[in-house]
Amino acid sequence: MQKRKKAKSMTQERSIVHMDLDTFFVSCERRIDSRLNNMPVLIGGTSDRGVVASCSYEARKFGVHSAMPMRMAKQLCPEAIVLRGNSGVYTKFSKEVTDVIQETVPLYEKSSIDEFYIDLTGMDRFFGCHQLATELRTKIMKETGLPISFGLSVNKTVSKIATGEAKPNNQLKVDSGLEKGFLAPLSVRKIPMVGEKTYNALCDLGIKRIKTVQEMPVNMMERVFGKHGITLWKKANGVDNSPIVPYHERKSISTERTFDKDTIDVYKLKGIITAMTENLIYQLRRGNKLTACVTFKIRYSDFQTYTKQKMIPYSSADHIILPIVMDLYKTLYQRRLLVRLVGVRFSHLVSGGHQINMFEDDEKILNLYHAMDKMRERFGDRAVIRASGMGAKSISRWNPFTGEPPPLLANRRQ
Ligand SMILES: [Mg+2]
Repeated sequence: MQKRKKAKSMTQERSIVHMDLDTFFVSCERRIDSRLNNMPVLIGGTSDRGVVASCSYEARKFGVHSAMPMRMAKQLCPEAIVLRGNSGVYTKFSKEVTDVIQETVPLYEKSSIDEFYIDLTGMDRFFGCHQLATELRTKIMKETGLPISFGLSVNKTVSKIATGEAKPNNQLKVDSGLEKGFLAPLSVRKIPMVGEKTYNALCDLGIKRIKTVQEMPVNMMERVFGKHGITLWKKANGVDNSPIVPYHERKSISTERTFDKDTIDVYKLKGIITAMTENLIYQLRRGNKLTACVTFKIRYSDFQTYTKQKMIPYSSADHIILPIVMDLYKTLYQRRLLVRLVGVRFSHLVSGGHQINMFEDDEKILNLYHAMDKMRERFGDRAVIRASGMGAKSISRWNPFTGEPPPLLANRRQ
């Protein structure tokens, strides 16, 4: 009896909640200006070539959706109020929500600026997970004034899809054992890993509903999509063992440079810091990540080490992050001593770079980054660099978000 009990707890079924703020940017704007309530609102690049980053449900009725050219959205819904986004405001509200979650539950993952996974496993003994999640949702809405939806199930994939089905401003529980049936009638597009490319490939095969994937043999999916196909098949069948990654353990990315010969050459230092930072920001963008915390580190020839960090609105833009790093360097580099090492770190990373970048920058800068990143992708990360960073040697080709280890040690000599 005892043994059986133990075995059960080891394979304990999980209770995973996915919470997603409804039309987050729009809701933030409404918190600031209640006249926007019940109105069609578009947020994004406001120029002719801008793109919709977020839109209210009132605008969606007209066929508007995010990532649509702003010009087309305005044509579909001429009475819409068009706003240029403000990442500082959204970062602040995102933090408010994060704080409520943090003080309520022991284990959560912040997966993007407006999305969270919460592990309530084992907490059902006293209250029931559904009730706990419902209370948390009510608390968030009461304390932040922002509408939020959730899905509850045994894993991340099913919960995220459930949230999507619950929206707007609602909640949905998928009972254990009913995952397959819940997913079956839905479009394959609803599976989180299915982007445009995979969706089109599935459509070419005549696969529209998740049910069809469920009925296919897994090795057929593997033959067509490789490893990706196996994961896709598992998700379609409601299987997903991926864990909740605690927010504080969320990966940061960093780069350091130790000099062969300690230096006091300010031009050289600045050049290297610029190159290091640009490369690290490029890696953020490539991983579709944003950072909210920038740290700079300097070590002198006597091994005294100083670090300084700054919280910033979520960003992955050179023209925002680079000046902050240079400021940190200027405030830290006071000793006029030989420098042995410099380092840059980005932490508090979340996903969702595309969304923020849609309005953060004016179109010209955005297109410039896009073009620069494309060249780096094709010709290597040293293909495009600022002139001031030309003195520095290559930093890294490694993409920290693909899960593959770096080909070189982080601490390279120059
Ligand atoms: Mg959302």
